[in-house]
Amino acid sequence: MTRSAQPHYDIIIRGGTLVDGSGAPRYAADLAIKDQRIAAIGDLAGATAEQVIDAGGQVVAPGFIDSHTHDDRYLIVDPGMPAKLSQGVTTVITGNCGLSQAPWLPGKRQEVPAPINLLSTDTADFPFATFGAYLENLERHPAAVNAACLVGHTSLRAAAMDDLNRPANDAEITHMQDLLREAMQAGAIGLSTGTAYPTAMPATTEELMGVAQVLREHGGIYASHIRDEADNIFAALDEAFAVGAAGQAPVLVSHHKLIGPKNHGRSVQTLAHIAAAAERQPVRLDAYPYVAGSTILRKDRLAVSSRVIVSKSGPLPQYAGWDLDKIAEDMGVTQEEAVDALQPAGAIYFIMDERDVERILAYPGTMIGSDGMPHDPAPHPRLWGTFPRVLGYYCRDMQLFTLEEAVHKMTGMTADYFRLPQRGLLKTGHYADVVVFDPDTIADTATWSSPTRQAQGIQCVLVNGTLAWRDGATTNSRTGAVVRPRK
Ligand code: ZN
Repeated sequence: MTRSAQPHYDIIIRGGTLVDGSGAPRYAADLAIKDQRIAAIGDLAGATAEQVIDAGGQVVAPGFIDSHTHDDRYLIVDPGMPAKLSQGVTTVITGNCGLSQAPWLPGKRQEVPAPINLLSTDTADFPFATFGAYLENLERHPAAVNAACLVGHTSLRAAAMDDLNRPANDAEITHMQDLLREAMQAGAIGLSTGTAYPTAMPATTEELMGVAQVLREHGGIYASHIRDEADNIFAALDEAFAVGAAGQAPVLVSHHKLIGPKNHGRSVQTLAHIAAAAERQPVRLDAYPYVAGSTILRKDRLAVSSRVIVSKSGPLPQYAGWDLDKIAEDMGVTQEEAVDALQPAGAIYFIMDERDVERILAYPGTMIGSDGMPHDPAPHPRLWGTFPRVLGYYCRDMQLFTLEEAVHKMTGMTADYFRLPQRGLLKTGHYADVVVFDPDTIADTATWSSPTRQAQGIQCVLVNGTLAWRDGATTNSRTGAVVRPRK
């Protein structure tokens, strides 16, 4: 064969072990990329490329999809997305737990209500009156990773209602439906709710079902941070199933967990209940691999937490990273008084049991989602550690599942459930979102006291065929796309 007759690619990743994201057994192969896509997989010894990546001894997998993020504004203010790329994440699902950056109607509110203020406390940081404007901005100023975006019900409430401390009336539900319809037409992937938060708690099941009706016309997923993850979790799960059914939408139970010592061990029953529901309608879960959660600082969590760390505070930023009991001691007040003084604030709560975490991660319908808080100065380590922790600690060290299953939970399963076209698998013709990692050394290193340490064992990450991360450093690429769902 003459040299000109040999296939020539943009990039060839040679000599790696492919874990293709489908859950199928690993196999040895080279992988070639051309024009943003996977062009060939197999023995490519005769082929040439502009750039060759040696993956000997490494695993080559689809880029990880973070199924649960609050990265709506992180994509804009820190588009290099180091917390995500450094873990091998190439796509983030934004807009979870009822809060999305859009829509936000100008002049409608003087302050950003919790929990939307997890994204920012400044109304000037919410410049998008429509969801379409938000997605267009992302396309005009791409980030380093892809984004697929949910619309938050609490954000719809904040746009449609003056007073969030009551159920929506019919006119307000119609307004929310119109805003959701605009978003779905613009390319949103579904609706999220967060009725565990005070600003959405007054919403009735009928309100949620009314808004979710719009999903029938456009498809899209229903992601639910359920009303109660503690004593009344079964009723809360049933409500999520009912809302999903009203929208004829696949249900995603967000960050499934059992809060408080009294409820520890109950994942045996909740997973059986979820599996039974999944016989009737599509139901899946997402989960992060830690026994602590993180959200806004709230008093009702203190009694069920064995430890509370403050992750950020508006008026008292010096206390970020401190335990709440130490802050109270330092201030000479009770913990409840310290909570008031720190607001607006975020916190990390030790509320789960390790056996529940393992059981939920191992459940076949569970996807991996970090739920990381990118704007917290002392964030929960899940922001920087989730994916390497699942692959290192839970897969390799604890053998909770095979490497093929672990990768499937963060790639193929996620792309399939969210209907992300041509993502999540190593397959010819798919977009070349790829991660190369060392299965023997991959590990999270972010801890409670050093929460922003970069994970180890990630050799390189490609987003839409472009090298975005290599040997622990960004390449400053900005090739992330807005991913719209398959119709
Ligand atoms: Zn949530």
